[in-house]
Amino acid sequence: MIPTQSYAAFDPASPLGPWSLERRAPGSRDVQIKILYCGVCHSDLHTVRNEWGAIVFPQVPGHEIVGRVVATGADVKGFTAGQLVGVGCLVDSCQDCPSCAQGLEQYCEKGSTGTYGGIEKQSGKPTQGGYSSAIVVDERFVLHIPEGMDPAAAAPLLCAGITTYSPLREWKAGPGKRVGIVGLGGLGHMGVKLAHAMGAHVTLFTTSPGKADDARRLGADAVVISKDAAAMKSVRNSLDLILDTVSAPHDLDAELTLLRRDGTLVLLGGSPVPHPATSVWPFITGRRRLAGSLIGGLPETQEMLNFCAAHGIASDIELIRASDINVAYERMLKSDVKYRFVIDISTITS
Ligand code: NAP
Ligand code: ZN
Repeated sequence: MIPTQSYAAFDPASPLGPWSLERRAPGSRDVQIKILYCGVCHSDLHTVRNEWGAIVFPQVPGHEIVGRVVATGADVKGFTAGQLVGVGCLVDSCQDCPSCAQGLEQYCEKGSTGTYGGIEKQSGKPTQGGYSSAIVVDERFVLHIPEGMDPAAAAPLLCAGITTYSPLREWKAGPGKRVGIVGLGGLGHMGVKLAHAMGAHVTLFTTSPGKADDARRLGADAVVISKDAAAMKSVRNSLDLILDTVSAPHDLDAELTLLRRDGTLVLLGGSPVPHPATSVWPFITGRRRLAGSLIGGLPETQEMLNFCAAHGIASDIELIRASDINVAYERMLKSDVKYRFVIDISTITS
């Protein structure tokens, strides 16, 4: 067993605090990782506050993990000790169904295993995430962090990066396409950077006027304050694709009418239920479409990391101590993050 220090939630209402756990001893296909950095995703907060349903406590959140390989099992082919690696939102899947066969493990028909909040097949115990000093993961769910990337700024790519990259690729963002990104948080700021790097025209929709300059610096060609009805009206019928990263219930009709004919609104934000429904009319009058997208599979996540390395892209981060996590959650709820908190894991034990 691998003794591991972590920060865990003990119930839905109390602050997170230190907790000791044990990782499984590495099996023949496992990679043992010393965690260096872990990003703080809004999903961590939804999860530990039971906003997505009841979970098992204690619960260690964190699925934007970068660390170094410490040891590998006898059958591990792709990794050696000392390498810089990443682990995202998944640590297992059936490897057998049509989705897994296509490298779309996030849509595993038997249910993929989340990095936290799932059940570890090897032990039958709850999976525990990356706000921790070590993790043991099957090599098929471990990513290579490309040479030269800042490990702290790379961590958010493992969730915020792939969650925006995948729909941008699926709906073919690129030159000649007009893409809207709604919300400039962790996902949104990666969406702006990635859509810009793919050559699309990017419009950022925000409720926070103070983020407009940052949005342009990150790659937005235009910024619209979504509470300004006249500004919203001026860009109606103009976009091919919208990625909605909003973490709370909001008006979808206003977004749908921003789409051109045949445009698609892709929901990424995991707003708790209930969520207000849409009218039928934006679909009927513009042959518009509503879709959703969940993180990304392992092959596409590696492709995204390589794309980011080639384009010099990483996350804009605020590095925090583990003991700052509760303040970070409160700031995230106020949309006050520039633009991803990342925990320096060395502070868990110091
Ligand atoms: P975040 O950093 O907190 O960003 C969310 C942004 O949404 C905020 O910065 C804010 O941007 C905007 N926003 C917040 N409340 C709003 C409201 N009531 N009305 C309108 N806009 C609002 O969160 P995140 O980590 O990027 O995650 C965003 C959501 O995606 C979360 O629900 C998360 O669970 C989910 N998620 C989904 C996937 C997936 O696979 N689909 C993966 C990861 C995360 P402005 O200040 O610019 O308005
Ligand atoms: Zn996430």
